[in-house]
Amino acid sequence: MALSGRFVILFRPLRVVKVLTTAQRKTSHQNTVIPQKKIEHKFSNHLTTNAAKFSTKVLTEIEANEIRNSQNQCWNCGQKLSLMSKNFCENCESILPLAQDENYFSLLAIKKDFRVSLNELQFNFKKFQILLHPDKYTLKSETERNISETVSSFINKAYFTLLKPLSRGIYLLELHGEYMTEDVNSDDPEFLMEILSLNEQIAESDSIPEKRKVFNDVKLIVDDLTIKIAESFHGEDIQKAKQHLISYKYYDNILQKLKEMLPPV
Ligand SMILES: [Zn+2]
Repeated sequence: MALSGRFVILFRPLRVVKVLTTAQRKTSHQNTVIPQKKIEHKFSNHLTTNAAKFSTKVLTEIEANEIRNSQNQCWNCGQKLSLMSKNFCENCESILPLAQDENYFSLLAIKKDFRVSLNELQFNFKKFQILLHPDKYTLKSETERNISETVSSFINKAYFTLLKPLSRGIYLLELHGEYMTEDVNSDDPEFLMEILSLNEQIAESDSIPEKRKVFNDVKLIVDDLTIKIAESFHGEDIQKAKQHLISYKYYDNILQKLKEMLPPV
């Protein structure tokens, strides 16, 4: 699947904006932190006359996103967002749509690098998953529920993309403007011959120790490639990183195949 360096945020079709009566508004906002009067006051202070109309209607997710990304303001209370406002408004604590400049690394608050700490990745994933999970928003407004669903689905995509070295490397390439898919083929005949002979060796090895030996040899190659990929990204040599990633893909496939053939250690 091709992923863009930045998020392409897809929204449901724009819903009909409901203009609520005062009584309806009271019910609709019963779950928000800031009372309606305060919201109107804040909007009149911070937003343009046009934007101030938002306080009298239910905002759609797409409008909330527009307010965050065009005006850098909270869609609920109109507060200017500081760098500290990642997923929640510091003022009214409403859940926020994703900022346009987020990427999978920043979304999970980990360093943008090929080398990641899996413990940190898993810990942060669980933390954000709990904080932003749609189940927490079942009693909130439709806008908050929709934002939570969108953000949660990106949190999941981010985690599963960064979890495996191959998809993580492909994503990092994309952040550097270079594209590759997991089904890319090598165009190096010598390398392809090497892979072919390795596959033959596996097919001909009829004992577990023989297969285990091939597994250990391939594991060393995969570990070495992992270091080379990380170093290439560090040295900003993106083409080299891509070449190593293509080799990694072939050897990692063989490793996974051998894993299925071997009994667990
Ligand atoms: Zn707010």
